[in-house]
Amino acid sequence: MTDELEQLIHKFPLLNNMQHYQPITWINPEFGEEAEIPFTQAEVFDVAARFKRFAPYLAAAFPETHKTDGQLISPLLKIDKMQTVLEDRNAAEIPGNVYLKADSMLPISGSIKSRGGIYEVLKFAEHVAMTETNLTYSDDYAVLATPDYHKLFADYGIMVGSTGNLGLSIGMAAASFGFKTTVHMSVDARQWKKDMLRANGVTVVEHDDSVSVAIAQGRKEAAKDPHTYFIDDEGSKDLFLGYSAAGIEIQKQLTDDGIFPDADHPVFVYLPAGVGGSPSGVSFGLQMMMPEGIYPVFAEPTHVPSVTMGMMTHLYDKIAVTDLGIDGKTLADGLAVPRSSKIAGRVMRTLLYGAHTFSDDDIYRYLALLADTQNIYVEPSAAAGFSAIAPTVAGFENQAVLKNATHVVWATGGKLVPTDEMQRYYDKGRALLAEPQQVLAR
Ligand SMILES: *Cc1c(COP(=O)(O)O)cnc(C)c1O
Repeated sequence: MTDELEQLIHKFPLLNNMQHYQPITWINPEFGEEAEIPFTQAEVFDVAARFKRFAPYLAAAFPETHKTDGQLISPLLKIDKMQTVLEDRNAAEIPGNVYLKADSMLPISGSIKSRGGIYEVLKFAEHVAMTETNLTYSDDYAVLATPDYHKLFADYGIMVGSTGNLGLSIGMAAASFGFKTTVHMSVDARQWKKDMLRANGVTVVEHDDSVSVAIAQGRKEAAKDPHTYFIDDEGSKDLFLGYSAAGIEIQKQLTDDGIFPDADHPVFVYLPAGVGGSPSGVSFGLQMMMPEGIYPVFAEPTHVPSVTMGMMTHLYDKIAVTDLGIDGKTLADGLAVPRSSKIAGRVMRTLLYGAHTFSDDDIYRYLALLADTQNIYVEPSAAAGFSAIAPTVAGFENQAVLKNATHVVWATGGKLVPTDEMQRYYDKGRALLAEPQQVLAR
């Protein structure tokens, strides 16, 4: 592959910077072009309708969802104090307003995986119930929480490969139905996530390798048993669509705050990308609900820029960061994915505005700043979006409209992180902030 690689780097010079772990900002030249998108707005509404049918079940199975009547929703928070501190530290204004979409507070998994991951479990449970019993679409799905159904679901299995949070959301949801659930965890998965799953009756298989290997192993094992359903983070359509319902949720939240995205009122959405499924699904959903003025920007670790690399080169899942000699190591949970999804990048070809890569140290700094200014605690990867604001603003082609801009940093996880672990993250961020001459924006 060396000749091919050389040509590739010649054609895409940013790859050279990426090989040297330098933070880069890539603006997608195809953004906004006409293209055939393989998913439709109707599919997003279908997802929302299924979540609605399951709301009584979720309220019955997860008491923490009582107060939202079984809906899995997160707040959109204006974070003025954080914005001011970011501006001070960067010695540059951020035109417009900065918001946090706090998926870190989502019920059940405390992460964005409560959208896609749980959705796919719900869809499978509905399928089993519809084929094996006389459940109808009009029934109160709380019935699925009864012992009879539990017994039925125990004949079926759910399997998934994960770096942690996907396994956590799918494991918790699947176990609630009574499915035999197995999570194949990659080497970087945190101990507390494995412990929590085991405490809920989930089988955790630990792999001494990357998530790509854990996924492959799960896929292979699930294929042996016709009653075991495999949730494929690298290529599942349902997983992708599950995330997209966030577009409906945030349309209302933006509207309530008087924000109506269009060319003169851009809404930038900063999303950390691992395999690329959650940021792509969310971006797609937003653009289906609000066809103008949404600018999705992905954030990836300098050590794992798999989605950026795949989209830039149009090689998508056909290239892994290791092909370029990049080590794929990051402390950002969920982002240590050396090869991107089979579908996400292709869907995003004309929908993604740009991508930015960050060094791990920066996300700990942002985590600590967010805690200090807004008293909101997120996990390290969930703070990644902050790294992309300054470079996006600096490079934006229409500077005149930026004063009307809305910046939505998607905080992808955090609620379930144990207190002592969160304290270590915070302390690390504080220590890094205390070092002299830190320039956050690059
Ligand atoms: C999974 C995850 C992401 C990235 O989602 P992908 O679908 O893998 O791109 C980002 N942040 C957190 C906290 C996650 O758990």
